[in-house]
Amino acid sequence: MPALSPTRPLTEKLLLGATRLALLTAPLTERAFPERLEIDDNHSLWTSQTPDYRPGPPLRESITADLAIIGGGFTGVSTAYHFSRRYPEKRVVLLEAKTLANGASGRNGGMMLNWVSGVTDHSPEMTRRIYEITRAGIQMIRELIERHNLQVSYRCDGTLTVYTDARRAEAAHAEVEYHQSIGIPERFLDSAALRATLALEGVHGAVLDPDTGQINGAQLVRGLRPVLIEQGVAIFEQTPVLKIREGATIVLTTPEGEVRAKAVVLATNGYTGKLGYFHDALFPLHSHVFATAPLTPEQQAALGWRRFAAFSDDLDRIAYSSLTSEGHIVFGGGSNQSYAYLFRNRTAYPGSPASAEKSFRRVEATMHGYLPGSTQVPITHRWTGTLGITLNRTPLMGVRGDHRNMFYAIGYCGHGVTLANIAGQVLTDLYSGDDERWRGLPFYQQGYVPIPPEPFRWLGYQAFTRLTGKSPRV
Ligand SMILES: Cc1cc2nc3c(=O)[nH]c(=O)nc-3n(C[C@H](O)[C@H](O)[C@H](O)COP(=O)(O)OP(=O)(O)OC[C@H]3O[C@@H](n4cnc5c(N)ncnc54)[C@H](O)[C@@H]3O)c2cc1C
Repeated sequence: MPALSPTRPLTEKLLLGATRLALLTAPLTERAFPERLEIDDNHSLWTSQTPDYRPGPPLRESITADLAIIGGGFTGVSTAYHFSRRYPEKRVVLLEAKTLANGASGRNGGMMLNWVSGVTDHSPEMTRRIYEITRAGIQMIRELIERHNLQVSYRCDGTLTVYTDARRAEAAHAEVEYHQSIGIPERFLDSAALRATLALEGVHGAVLDPDTGQINGAQLVRGLRPVLIEQGVAIFEQTPVLKIREGATIVLTTPEGEVRAKAVVLATNGYTGKLGYFHDALFPLHSHVFATAPLTPEQQAALGWRRFAAFSDDLDRIAYSSLTSEGHIVFGGGSNQSYAYLFRNRTAYPGSPASAEKSFRRVEATMHGYLPGSTQVPITHRWTGTLGITLNRTPLMGVRGDHRNMFYAIGYCGHGVTLANIAGQVLTDLYSGDDERWRGLPFYQQGYVPIPPEPFRWLGYQAFTRLTGKSPRV
């Protein structure tokens, strides 16, 4: 999903002001220790394409580690991968509450994008730097797949940001020209060019980012399990961390075991608040997604989707969609009902996809609006996933704690497919002190805009979405 526009509407500014005021006046009531762990099962198309995957055994003893990673999504697995290659002699443990890729990494819209959300420094240097870092991230993912011969379905034939308003399309065109002038290979497609490639109803133009694409994240994360084990990483699935005691040695308590580690990585993104960390930095936003039955190339062309891996739109209730190599259309967002924040940072969406019928119908209606021929296309999968959203949409990567041994990489908003895979390099470099290439980046070792505690947070979300008719753009 594209970066947030730097100009915020007045309503959002007012809400930000009100929530900051609430933060100053409200008592801090949030608990520092995890409540009941709430992680629902993953019903996505992506995990259905890893049918033979079985979770590994839980931790049932007390062990020690040089580095313990909490969370088995892109962040956790990429950290385990890069760290264990850099330090083959160190003991690395990865603890995952359920199965690898059960979280957002196995539930997303599949778009592998450039850019970092929330960046407000638009100088040529920073713009180019951010683009190059994310472009190298996508390249790194592709090399990883090739190097280890992973069975991962992906394509890199470009993604679009589409504009539903003529003036916004014009502004986007001007921005593309600026980007081209500083060496960024984006292209602007006017409505005629778009009609011939990806014919979307009500769209005035689009920005094409050529080397970006679409990927099955569950296949990537799960495919890396044997590689990590080969590199000496001990992986324990079905092992939720229930408690963290910080110190020079950090003690992680799990239901049947314990890890004593010299350093820990919080790779829990939208679930991090439940561990007692960053609950004032992140709020878990649920997004609804569905996938269609696979379409033949002829059916795709008849719908108007002839080229490109994915698109997202320019609306506050952002809609996003990708087309897999097997021909499934994956579609998410697009209405207020299709985004939800649940009271007290709840990370599991209640009920089943069937019980969220109304929300899914709204998402489906959005797809039918863009691709009118899609009304007859059968839907085969519906799921929800938890995004980790920061108030200014910028991710957070760094290290904290009295002993500088609690590492974290969280809050990617809608850009985590690329960024959370880069996170493993960032944290490994930070650990080693060889972090020149990340210094000065807006997501690296920076502070964050605090989000007020409950009930102000929930009330703020409700007031904002109901009064403005918008969802926070992710
Ligand atoms: C619906 C949806 C659509 C999205 N679409 C896109 C997109 O198209 N493009 C894009 O770039 N980004 C997208 N994103 C964002 C992207 O998927 C995430 O930013 C990224 O996957 C985060 O990876 P992660 O490893 O940090 O977190 P996760 O994948 O969420 O992994 C965290 C893991 O931690 C585990 N965990 C939690 N608590 C504990 C505990 N106490 N103990 C042990 N384990 C624990 C969880 O089970 C989970 O497996 C989307 C996200 C969602 C939800």
